[in-house]
Amino acid sequence: MNSRRNIFIILAVVVGVFFTCGCSTNPATGEQQLILYSREQEIAMGTEAAPSFIEQMGGPVENLKLQQYVQSIGSKLAAVSDRPMPYEFTLVRSETPNAFALPGGKIFISAGLMRQLQNERQLAAVLGHEVAHVAAQHNIQAMQRQMGAALFADVLGAVIGGSGGAAAEVGADIAGTMFNLQYSRGDESKADDIGIRYLFAAGYNPWSMVELLAVLSELSESQSSKFGNLFETHPLTSERIKDARKILADKYNQRSAAALDPNADRFNKMKKLLGSAD
Ligand SMILES: [Zn+2]
Repeated sequence: MNSRRNIFIILAVVVGVFFTCGCSTNPATGEQQLILYSREQEIAMGTEAAPSFIEQMGGPVENLKLQQYVQSIGSKLAAVSDRPMPYEFTLVRSETPNAFALPGGKIFISAGLMRQLQNERQLAAVLGHEVAHVAAQHNIQAMQRQMGAALFADVLGAVIGGSGGAAAEVGADIAGTMFNLQYSRGDESKADDIGIRYLFAAGYNPWSMVELLAVLSELSESQSSKFGNLFETHPLTSERIKDARKILADKYNQRSAAALDPNADRFNKMKKLLGSAD
């Protein structure tokens, strides 16, 4: 009797696990994912982590026009994302070039990276790549890997239900992990691929993704220590550039002349504003 009862208990647990952590198809990648957290928990993690994360990035750049500009470009990419989330885009003061996406869709670009960009479509490429990480759930999965199962479960428990109000150290744990997050090379190429699709859907020349990677690649050779952090988070390899080129060559026409950039004026104005901010 006892062993039969045990089997029932095991069955009940298996069925319970199946129903609470169901498999689902990710809308951005089309791949099956085992989801161990709810959408609300994912959003709550980002909300809990944001204050500590922003602090580590030197705070937001205190210029409303610049913030609205970054938000407006990001919103175009968010609007075409396969996965609707409360996306938010913030320019932070850190001079270390980097871009980050917290679980739930809070996305950050550093002043240091913005300064290196040459045009608006490259900014769109950065933000599109980050939106893709959120849509594909790369960021929360990488966080889970980096934290390990036990700490991740603790964090989930603390933010459960998405009601917020978890202890400050939970927010700091998430922020610290996200700050040192390393995406896999596979995730990077996938985020470029999805980002290219979003760029095109948002009305930008999708070749700007390769343009961005070329800018970063050149910088990585000239200022490797300053850019170390960016390439640790988002590894840049020759394969990644090759992959992006192939996707573009297969699916999109050759790039049009860079001279026909209708957004050059407003981008240059914003770069000037950034120069005078702080
Ligand atoms: Zn990335």
